Parts: sequence; C-alpha cells; structure tokens
Amino acid sequence: MELMLRSSRNLFRGTQKSKPSSNIGNENSRTVSVLKVGDISVELYRKKIKNVHLRVYPPNGAVRISVPVGLPISTITDIVEKRLEWIRTQQARASSGIEHPRFMSGERHFYCGSLLRLNVFNTSGRPSVRVCEPDVIEMKVPPGYTDIQRGKLLDEWYRAQIKAIAQPYFEKWEPVMGVKASQWRIKKMKTRWGSCNVSDARIWLSLELAKKPSRCIEYVVVHELAHLIEHGHGPRFTQVMDQFLPEWKVIRRELNTSQTY
Ligand SMILES: [Zn+2]
Repeated sequence: MELMLRSSRNLFRGTQKSKPSSNIGNENSRTVSVLKVGDISVELYRKKIKNVHLRVYPPNGAVRISVPVGLPISTITDIVEKRLEWIRTQQARASSGIEHPRFMSGERHFYCGSLLRLNVFNTSGRPSVRVCEPDVIEMKVPPGYTDIQRGKLLDEWYRAQIKAIAQPYFEKWEPVMGVKASQWRIKKMKTRWGSCNVSDARIWLSLELAKKPSRCIEYVVVHELAHLIEHGHGPRFTQVMDQFLPEWKVIRRELNTSQTY
C-alpha cells in the first residue's frame, strides 16, 4: 500500500501538460464519512483501491482521503496525523488565492520570478497596474470591475512587461546569431514557453513567462531564434545553444522547475 499526497493544483511545467486538477466527482466513491483528526475534518472515501490518496482541494482547503475498503480507522487516523503539517501548508496555499485567483487585495501573484502582493484600489480614472514597491503590484480599477476584468487587466500588464523585457533580447541576439524573426508576439499558451514557425520566421512567447526571471525569457528567445538555424531539437540544435548560451541547460531547469502557480 502506497500513500499518495496531492494538492489539487494545476502544474505548469513547460511542455508537460497539466493533469486535470480534480476528478473526485467521477471517482466511484462507495462509502463517504467525515473523520475528525485534531482540528481537521477529513472526508473519507472507502473504495476498491490499493493505495491511499490524501488530497487538499482549493479554494477552501477541503481534505479528502481515499482508502482501500477494509483499512482500519486507527491506521487512517495515523496516516492523517503524520501529515498534518503538510495538510496545513496545502490549505494555506489553497486559501492564498495563488491557485484560484480572484484578483483581490491580499492575493499573491508572480512577477519576474518573485511572489508579489496584490493591492487593489478603486479609481474614477483609467484602470492601471504597476509595481509600486519591490514586492507589491498595485492595481487601480473602476468600482464594480469583475474578477474576470481584473484578471484580463493583469494579463495585459504582464504582456506589456514581457514585450519590454524581450525586445532588447531580440535586438541583442538576432545580429549575434545571424537570424531575424519576421515578427514575434505574446500568446496565452499553457503547455509551451514559446514556439517558432520556421517557414514564416514567426516566434510566439508564452504570457506565462512574465512570471519568470528575465534570464528565462532570454533563454526562450535564444531557443526560438536557434530554430531559425536548426529546426529540430537534435545534436545540431544543442550545438547552437551551447555556442550562444552555454548555460542554457541551467536556465531551462530553472524555467521548468520554479513555481509560478
Ligand atoms: Zn524548441
């Protein structure tokens, strides 16, 4: 019997597609009861399964455990007790708004590799976003602006930031690498950091890059420009990357492992 811990959140790791955050509703639940462990209420599902699954769900940090049918309550309690700290950490994350943002004051959002606090103010003027202290994103919106509108506003701000960050990298690397993008744009992409249409020399960068340090944006720019030299990801592509950005593997690891959710 294995124990599987999972906080239900969307993982975004470059080309790895995220799994659906929850399929609890589809699970063939047989017996459901509530188990109290300390101050934590745990929904207990007994099923025809081999492993124990302990999960914490946003936005309220609900805790659910699925166990094999005959597993004694004492064993289940023991399992939960040993993971109370993990559960509390996941609950804190779930309620912080990182996973299901509503773009309200107090939430934390990533920008350039750091987690910043969002402060939202009403304004009678134009909606705006700016970083006003090193760790605060200040958003000004008309009263009644919905969370969807606030999310769009933040995305537009992210887009402008990436444009400003990536432009000098294109200017720096195109002459060095001897290639030129006919155009480059920023797009909401959930499974890739960037893409290159080689025949049109058109490059797309993911909007999610705004949440990453600028060196990650530089790496993606160089990677996509490198496709204008070599289409695939074979040895020649590696050679091109090694030549122009010798530390590219380190940056790629950072890009794919740092948290932005
Ligand atoms: Zn590529």
